[in-house]
Amino acid sequence: MEIREVPEPTPGRGQVKIAVAKTGICGSDLHIYHSDIAIPMKTPVITGHEFAGTICEIGPDVDGWRIGDPVVSETAFAFCGACPACRTGFYNLCPERRTLGYWHDGAFAPYTVVPAARLHRMPGNVTFEEAALAEPLACVTHAVIELTTIKPEDFVLVSGPGAIGLATLQVALAHGARVIVAGMSVDAGRLETARELGAFRVMDVEREPLAEVVQELTGGVGVDVVLECSGSARAVDAGLRALKRRGQFSQIGLFGSAITVNFELISYRELRVTGSLGSRFSSWEKALSLMASGAVRARPLISHLLPMRDWSAAFAMFERKEGLKLLLDPHEA
Ligand SMILES: [Zn+2]
Ligand SMILES: [Zn+2]
Repeated sequence: MEIREVPEPTPGRGQVKIAVAKTGICGSDLHIYHSDIAIPMKTPVITGHEFAGTICEIGPDVDGWRIGDPVVSETAFAFCGACPACRTGFYNLCPERRTLGYWHDGAFAPYTVVPAARLHRMPGNVTFEEAALAEPLACVTHAVIELTTIKPEDFVLVSGPGAIGLATLQVALAHGARVIVAGMSVDAGRLETARELGAFRVMDVEREPLAEVVQELTGGVGVDVVLECSGSARAVDAGLRALKRRGQFSQIGLFGSAITVNFELISYRELRVTGSLGSRFSSWEKALSLMASGAVRARPLISHLLPMRDWSAAFAMFERKEGLKLLLDPHEA
């Protein structure tokens, strides 16, 4: 990865050009950096897919949008529209899906071009900094609201208190759940944020045994739901063991390589396990609504705002698990 001078993009038919205000670094950008990502890529490409900005140019055949509109954009730049996944609204799973920041030039740049059909209007009370987290939040609402069922008073275990984990915590809290957030010693600051955001219990798994804490809190029954956000094999194993009989396990974090899991844990307790990938129209509408109402606060998840020219230092900080969500200002290259 490097900073390069490239021509400014021009919006084609049905597309708009956006002046990117703020753009976030995602865990998957680190996976791209290390070449261990399974999402199709076409290089050279401008990475970056979490952003908010303002429409600055409108291509032919675009209705309903004006120059100056503050917007966020879905990342599903292209999909076939004809496969069973697309035709049932799950275009996040289209085999032909081509993603912004992977296949099409993304948001680590002052300007980017997206299809107008993927735009969402920014709520009036949300800042560009906060709205840059709409994309990760939409992935979370897809996993937590659309693929998992959480009921009031459910015990929910969130493993991995990064930005995704803390957004997951807030969405689970919006359902009235009692949320346990588990992290490691290096996550001390993040666990403190989880406590401030309303976690029922936070714990450092290197200091306290997760199984014992869960047993104690749930009267030996186990948690109703596990939302795994860390992408670590140990967290998957601990999460499967922490679940009650017929509990639900949703995988949100990515691993970067194959992991070994005792699948028997799923059989003997009739666990329901699902993956989750990206987001779709409805996940974005829910995410923006949760932001607008204040049920999900993005502000506490933003730890740094750096100029684009410091991207390399920002990636290194993210890798060292310093801070939470790091935002870049692409106009300061
Ligand atoms: Zn992302
Ligand atoms: Zn398709």
